[in-house]
Amino acid sequence: MSGKVTLVGAGPGAPDLITVRGERALREADAVVYDALAAESLLDLAPERAARIDVGRRGHSEPARTQEEISALLVKLAREGKRVVRLKGGDPYVFGRGGEEAAACRAAGVPFEVVPGITSAIGALSHAGIPVTDRRHSASFAVVTGHKDPGAAREHVRFGELARAVDTLVILMAMKNLEAILGEVLAGGRVPETPAACVMQGATGAQRSVVATLATLATRVREAGLAAPAAVVIGDVVRLAPELAWFERLPLFGKRVLITRQASQSGEWRRALEAAGAVPVLTPMIRTAPVRDDAALARVFGALGTYDWLVAASANALRELGAAARERGADLAKLRARVACVGEASAASAREIGLTPLPASGGDAERLLAWLRANHEWRGRRVLLPRAALASEALPAGLRAEGALVDELPLYRTEAAPFDRDALVARLAARELDALAFASPSAVRHFAAGVGADGVAAARASAIVAIGTITADALRSAGFAPNVVAETPSAAGLVSALEAHFTVEGSR
Ligand code: SAH
Repeated sequence: MSGKVTLVGAGPGAPDLITVRGERALREADAVVYDALAAESLLDLAPERAARIDVGRRGHSEPARTQEEISALLVKLAREGKRVVRLKGGDPYVFGRGGEEAAACRAAGVPFEVVPGITSAIGALSHAGIPVTDRRHSASFAVVTGHKDPGAAREHVRFGELARAVDTLVILMAMKNLEAILGEVLAGGRVPETPAACVMQGATGAQRSVVATLATLATRVREAGLAAPAAVVIGDVVRLAPELAWFERLPLFGKRVLITRQASQSGEWRRALEAAGAVPVLTPMIRTAPVRDDAALARVFGALGTYDWLVAASANALRELGAAARERGADLAKLRARVACVGEASAASAREIGLTPLPASGGDAERLLAWLRANHEWRGRRVLLPRAALASEALPAGLRAEGALVDELPLYRTEAAPFDRDALVARLAARELDALAFASPSAVRHFAAGVGADGVAAARASAIVAIGTITADALRSAGFAPNVVAETPSAAGLVSALEAHFTVEGSR
């Protein structure tokens, strides 16, 4: 098999601003090579087994790689037969050195593709209420670099001439030389009163913007403490910002939400919250530990071809089934069974271990059971049910009641995950967390036991979110009054419950 390199633009900030094609490339990647990204959560979309290689991180003991080293790495990985995604912020060809990497692939005879992305030059500004063109204010825009690289053949920007030639001037990488750049634009003939703005970390929950004029922007930016990454824009379109700012007005904008779910299940929640402008804070209260029952595994792996159904009530169960099969040298391709999953996350886990799930039936084990009962015949059917060691009996019991022969395979258990108690209690006491989200009674129990009585008392200042009524009951037993109960146990359900809560709060 021959590999290839796909240069993918990640978009300007929020993880769901990547293109559909870019997301597909990530989901199929064997290796992801990335640098400082606004949405690191995008890395979760790559398969678990994919290598994730950070080539851009500065200020660490390891020196940053040179461009030549990065290009050589892409070529090497592709030659090993890997599907390599080179993930870059914004668009790969807008000050992203994508052209050099594509040329290196071409020279090495490695196939490459380019998936464009929304550049921050447009996307960060629109999230601050600034359109780059507007019939009333601007018929042209230019995007330029404010970074002067003495080694680059063509990085000299004629700010003075541009200042007169285009209506909207967008400058990336401008923060280091801001004063000097604005001075050149002024000297080029733009009047000091020309509206100008700076948008830092656009399209993320940490977005901050300053709207000023050409004469005052540098000072205002310094006073406000804005820093890279930020986009600077000069031109009359900036006048629209107060009217068209929408993102910073979203109910969840900038809200810090503690996610207590286990790390491997937090990805979708994290991305959904980021997309809504919130700032997820991941502190898992539970983790899974593998459980292996030798006799049961031997029985199941010896009879894989005999099952009519594989019913999975959790993504963990499927992930652990894949792991156990690898450990024991069993081939899951022998499964002829139809595969039913509880939700999108478990369907994704099923695909990761080479299975083809039926369309997910939506939500929780109860709904899965209702759907299976209503749509299929169970008498005499052999069902493989991978599960947690101490899971609810509802699903296997319900299928047995229909006449199915259910083979339960315990594969993991959940346990308390260690976390930095003092740091979390300090954040709670400082009211740094706007909401705390719990998805299971065990997360609630480990949280309450972990933070102790003073932590629980401090936590009452945050909005308490329960996913599902069972979790809400557990919260009440632990001394909380859940303010928000999400009806749908999904990322979207969490976001809409929080939005409803903070919309009411905001209008008070
Ligand atoms: N290829 C990228 C640009 C890379 S150069 C793109 O198309 O967006 C890096 C510069 O992009 C940063 O210095 C900053 O000026 C800008 N930038 C990247 N992400 C940004 C964001 N979320 N908000 C504002 N500016 C951003």
